[in-house]
Amino acid sequence: MFKAMNLEENKSNNPGTAGDIEKVKCLIIGSGPAGYTAAIYAARANLSPVMYEGLQPGGQLTTTTEVENFPGYPQGITGPEMMEDLKTQAQRFGSDIRWGLATKVDFSGSVHKVWIDEKKLIEAETVIIATGATAKYLGIDDEKKYAGSGVSACATCDGFFYRGKDVAVVGGGDTAAEEAIYLAGIVNKVYLIVRRNELRASKVMQERVLKTKNIEVLWEHQTKGLTGDGVVEGAILWKKKGTPEEEEVTIKIDGFFLAIGHKPNSDFVKEFVDTDEVGYIKTVPGSSKTKVSGVFACGDVQDSIYRQAVTAAGSGCMAAIDAERYLSEKHS
Ligand code: NDP
Repeated sequence: MFKAMNLEENKSNNPGTAGDIEKVKCLIIGSGPAGYTAAIYAARANLSPVMYEGLQPGGQLTTTTEVENFPGYPQGITGPEMMEDLKTQAQRFGSDIRWGLATKVDFSGSVHKVWIDEKKLIEAETVIIATGATAKYLGIDDEKKYAGSGVSACATCDGFFYRGKDVAVVGGGDTAAEEAIYLAGIVNKVYLIVRRNELRASKVMQERVLKTKNIEVLWEHQTKGLTGDGVVEGAILWKKKGTPEEEEVTIKIDGFFLAIGHKPNSDFVKEFVDTDEVGYIKTVPGSSKTKVSGVFACGDVQDSIYRQAVTAAGSGCMAAIDAERYLSEKHS
């Protein structure tokens, strides 16, 4: 089995290093299920992939407790364990996995330039962007206090743990509507905490929310804090905050789900690839190709719809196959 090497070891050992510039065939940026799967496939296709893990090695799943919906784990597995397994599998085939953050890119030439930690320059024939997305939080202290103990930003991942209980979902967009409807099928009751007196969600989703009997929309409510002895047992809300009718409301809940949007981690490549208005990287439908030849995107940084570990892994596989085909055409 290959040993995980750090950046310093690689500088001296890697035959592709020339001065401060290192040349690689395939550079993978980001290390969630998409990045690791891309690494497994790229390594097995002899692309000698080099991966930089980013700020949160393993990605969003390392903040989840139990993963029960990834095929192949009948008893479930914790997020961090699953990411370790994926990393070990990628290293088994020779993927070179390193600490470091891609801070700047230049995709204007035929060779793609990527700077790591603002210092080291990599010149890559192909780049796979798998930097994921970050769920937005409200910014209140209690979100951190109860992280993993009743606070979640993924209903599909964690909803099952609240079977038959009461939960709250914060947000009024399509994600909040979708998560509230999903949870309503599992839990006893869903409070949908909406800060305005209308939903931003599409009309069809609004109708579904309003038709679902066990969803109660709390219009013009905002979250002040959470309560509970070690785990979430309730929330304190402001109704009509900042108006003469302002009042404090408490609800009894076991789960508190954030659904106020995600931010795709694409800022560092936006100058060169197309993104939508939220920041999701646009890819050619049915592929992982961006508008730059040899640059591919996979996982949550390009997926505003499914955002699941298994779909991210699938798109990571696509990106590695696309990179391999691009290189074999280029060198044929
Ligand atoms: P949106 O930005 O559309 O909605 C965010 C929601 O969270 C808004 O209702 C917003 O309130 C609320 N919000 C934001 N910040 C706060 C805060 N601090 N406190 C309380 N509430 C807050 O994000 P979504 O993730 O819902 O959707 C992102 C994009 O993805 C959209 O284009 C959506 O249509 C799309 N999408 C599509 C799906 C599908 O087609 N199946 C599924 C999910 C998403 P306010 O309205 O007051 O600003």
